[in-house]
Amino acid sequence: MAAKILDGTKIASVIRAEVAAEVRAMTAAGMCPGLAVVLVGHNPASEVYVRGKVKASGEVGIYSEEHKPAESSSTEDLLRLIGELNRREEIDGILVQLPLPAHVDSKKVLLAVDPAKDVDGFHPMNVGFLSTQRPGLVPCTPAGVMEILRRSNIPIAGQEAVVVGRSDIVGKPVAMLLINANATVTVCHSKTRDLPGVCRRADILVAAIGKAGMITQEFVKPSATVIDVGINQVKDRAEFERFFAGDARREESFRKRGSTLVGDVHPSVAEVAGAITPVPGGVGPLTIAMLMANTVKAAKMRRTKP
Ligand code: NAP
Repeated sequence: MAAKILDGTKIASVIRAEVAAEVRAMTAAGMCPGLAVVLVGHNPASEVYVRGKVKASGEVGIYSEEHKPAESSSTEDLLRLIGELNRREEIDGILVQLPLPAHVDSKKVLLAVDPAKDVDGFHPMNVGFLSTQRPGLVPCTPAGVMEILRRSNIPIAGQEAVVVGRSDIVGKPVAMLLINANATVTVCHSKTRDLPGVCRRADILVAAIGKAGMITQEFVKPSATVIDVGINQVKDRAEFERFFAGDARREESFRKRGSTLVGDVHPSVAEVAGAITPVPGGVGPLTIAMLMANTVKAAKMRRTKP
């Protein structure tokens, strides 16, 4: 039987509506949440992401501002800007769009963000809060994975969860969130032995690898829930055929655009999984929705602190 499709676009729009209602109430109480996005230089992909974040902020009523320091900005220039944003009362969230130019000390810049305004949840203090189950700001994509599971009524407590990928921004925080939700969690990476065998143990399989369609049917226990975090662009016709042969809708969009997106999970996994997130339209839309939710959370935590 074909897997249930976990519609991230729909879940994200529900979350955005909830956030918008909270923002309306907070604004009426004189506490409109504010987000500052810092984009250094002219990375085209980063410019698209930042536009999306600013647009989403406007749609839910969050005040946002863009800071665009020149590509040549030094680490000290950026530390000065972060310092100013840290001090401004009406700014609740600071997001530094990565990657920063190679000459900038990215770690130093990220560390300078006030943890109470760290809406990306990357600051070591927020990482520590997450691992010790204290209130803090959780990275957006991992938080989005949990929202998909919870809002789709997928049981988590007591389940076997396998996370493929151990990055600081996706794999590790997803694993931590699953542990905190009482799953039994295994984290895999490029040195894991018998990866298909380990993955087949999973009731919940999360793929955050960055390798197009790597998770095939042999990695998946029948009826498992599969969460595909990967976003990979397919431009090559032979690669397209490997994933989407016979898919008329994809064929049309591939022909029109010359490319299409595929996750880290091969689309044919939908034939064995119980539930699966599509790409696009799965985890992706949750990332911006959770950024909005984090900005509201940051505003509440900081401004209502005794
Ligand atoms: P990353 O930093 O490159 O980490 C990839 C992880 O996958 C690493 O831990 C790596 O293992 C592991 N890996 C690589 N090849 C492997 C293999 N053959 N077998 C087993 N494990 C392997 O990537 P990331 O930033 O976590 O992102 C992962 C994917 O998620 C990417 O496709 C990215 O575009 C996507 N993403 C999506 C969103 C969204 O909004 N949906 C947000 C962020 C990222 P090692 O540690 O051993 O090298």
